[in-house]
Amino acid sequence: MSRQPEYVWMGGDYIRWQDAKVHVASECAMRGANVFEGIRGYLDAPGTRLMFFRLPDHLDRFFNSMKLMRMQPPYARATYVEAIAGCTAQNGFAEDVYVRLTTYFGLGKNYGYLPDEVEIDSAVIVSPRGRPEGLPQGIHCMTSTWLRISDRAMPPRIKAGANYQNSRLAFVEARINGYDGALLLNADGRVAEGPGACLFIVRAGTLITPPVTAGILESITRATVLELATRELGIPTAIRDVDRTEVYLADEAFFCGTAQEITPIISLDRYAVGSGEPGAITRSVQQFFFQIVRGERPAYSHWLTPVPAKVAV
Ligand code: PMP
Repeated sequence: MSRQPEYVWMGGDYIRWQDAKVHVASECAMRGANVFEGIRGYLDAPGTRLMFFRLPDHLDRFFNSMKLMRMQPPYARATYVEAIAGCTAQNGFAEDVYVRLTTYFGLGKNYGYLPDEVEIDSAVIVSPRGRPEGLPQGIHCMTSTWLRISDRAMPPRIKAGANYQNSRLAFVEARINGYDGALLLNADGRVAEGPGACLFIVRAGTLITPPVTAGILESITRATVLELATRELGIPTAIRDVDRTEVYLADEAFFCGTAQEITPIISLDRYAVGSGEPGAITRSVQQFFFQIVRGERPAYSHWLTPVPAKVAV
């Protein structure tokens, strides 16, 4: 987090950052029992309004994660939207921001699992956030020695905090070994995704991405890229299993996700991807994506939920 907000939303109210606490014996602290969403808010081109990208889609996934974890949603969808707008306004943010929504289990009866015997609440954190490292120049990745978790044991489709221990192992391993990031394979040995982003490769002019059954999060940015490629950029797309060696041979590769936006991958396991520099298709996807999120493509304004910047609540 680049800058700490003064206020967060928790227990249905705006409270100071230092007061936003959970008990050490809570299920979320003890066992990572939470689901969450990460959403970006972008300042529009004139710099007057913040617009949250595909907010209803993020809320859909948030509620799907709660459903799969058998969490009774503590608040209505509209309440989360109000809390995002309220946190933005309370903190006076008029710059690009990143939202964390979370629903978490609190204290339970005898450390039990049953949802009706455990406290539940949600929190909203909005904080300033700029571009990810590696966005213009690209990143060097390694194939993780850790496998991606699977739908059979710990479904990656659920955006659960505990799933990110798998991401943590892979990412830290990559950094310790001198890489910028990791790529995880699934139990079938096919490419799954990165610790916090989905993968696209370009082979013979086609944009290729693994299917949602490959052990990935159902990424909203991935769906966005697929739609843009087909409708706007005239680039053929394919959703199919991807072998590790295909990434080595790809002309281009990139990660896509809310935090990583469109981050080029310029090598994997020290095999240069294509020329070893971000490719033309990656650049055109990046360009179109940023035009959309800044409100410069009116045809996609339905993907943007504006919140007036610097408004008092
Ligand atoms: N995979 C994982 C594991 C992620 O954490 C994320 C980030 N939410 C993504 C993919 C990309 O998803 P989205 O485009 O919806 O942010």
